[in-house]
Amino acid sequence: MTDEKAQTQEFKLDPDCELRFEVESKNEKVMLELKSGLAEVFGTELVKGKKYEFIAGAKVAVFTWQGCTVELVGKTDVSYVAKETPMGLYLNCHAAMERLREAAEKEDTRGPITMVVGPCDVGKSTLCRLLLNYAVRMGRRPIFVDLDVGQGHIAIPGTVGALLVERPSNVVDGFGVSLWAQIATGQRCSVQSSQVCSDRLQANKKARVSGIVINTCGWVKGDGYKLLTHAAQAFEVDAILVLDQERLYNELVRDMPDFVKVVFLPKSGGVVERSQAQRTEARDQGVREYFYGSRTPLYPHSFEVKWNEARLYKIGAPVLPASCMPLGMKAEDNLTKLVAVTPGPNLLHHLLSVSFADSPEDDVVQTNVAGFVCVTNVDVDRQTFTVLSPQPRPLPNTVLLLSDIQFMDSH
Ligand code: ADP
Repeated sequence: MTDEKAQTQEFKLDPDCELRFEVESKNEKVMLELKSGLAEVFGTELVKGKKYEFIAGAKVAVFTWQGCTVELVGKTDVSYVAKETPMGLYLNCHAAMERLREAAEKEDTRGPITMVVGPCDVGKSTLCRLLLNYAVRMGRRPIFVDLDVGQGHIAIPGTVGALLVERPSNVVDGFGVSLWAQIATGQRCSVQSSQVCSDRLQANKKARVSGIVINTCGWVKGDGYKLLTHAAQAFEVDAILVLDQERLYNELVRDMPDFVKVVFLPKSGGVVERSQAQRTEARDQGVREYFYGSRTPLYPHSFEVKWNEARLYKIGAPVLPASCMPLGMKAEDNLTKLVAVTPGPNLLHHLLSVSFADSPEDDVVQTNVAGFVCVTNVDVDRQTFTVLSPQPRPLPNTVLLLSDIQFMDSH
């Protein structure tokens, strides 16, 4: 039997069950419709009678607390109903966070700061989305910080970002790219964004009470683990939700101060593992959408920039042993150091972030970025490079930061 189901499939779900489906084949579309009852996709309620269109790459769970009937039209590669889900446990986390928000509201303090950690493909981003959606549905305005540089759900891959969540995520596209703080850095200095968030919390009472949900990347060993504990410290987290890995849970219980609550949570059986190829494809897709849009097409510009007119830098110098560092500097300082970059073939296919910082003397690492351009050609003879840019020429006369992320424009 093939898994070809081009027809209409109807599913009756009992309370606390979820329908899981995947769309894999290119150019395939699947329409989801809630026929009766109540259901949600990763915490966002479905509107009855509305058709939601999913394309290749979608891995979706339609969960119902009350029971419902849903319909799928189109070819799904996988579709089944699961009765076992960790949703009850996840809801408990939300409830605990909500109690802290109520307390924060009364005492005019800040709400819970929660970090979600775990290896790759355990549903970290999905849990963040769920907690944020539940919070917004209670009228809260939490901040979402995404330190997952590999996939980057807020900005584009290779960046860390933060977003004030004011409405539930789109059922199909997630939270999208409406951001106020977006810091393009190398792998390393994600921790800088904590300052931006803390300023933001100071300024906005509703956000302050609602707190922060932080997503992290799946690198949990060695230096990756150090980054996690570093981030926990920088953001002054109250709780760490550890998905799936008991070893990581035990390490965090051991290393975190007592006032940080470390909670172990099972992963959902529905979370789908992605191969390296799928991960790369998802990353490319993220960048492609930034320039060309998805549902609403965007039309980027392409123009040349003279080498001597670009002020190019990168963040992070090679780490030196402490004994080689200038007096008074720590080895870690080098990770966030601004280093001038000489233009040349080395730029080809790299993304450059366009900083709001006017000069390298500004605190570039802490400054938000205005957007991104991609270097599509380098002309050594004429000493120019060509960029793909959301904005027409010229590039703003600000600092450009070279990122490690490469993108081949095949349009
Ligand atoms: P991580 O952030 O840990 O890498 P994600 O949250 O991105 O993991 O989840 C990996 C994939 O699994 C995503 O495509 C997501 O849509 C899918 N997924 C998560 N939970 C479920 C579920 N309960 N049923 C079906 N698919 C799911």
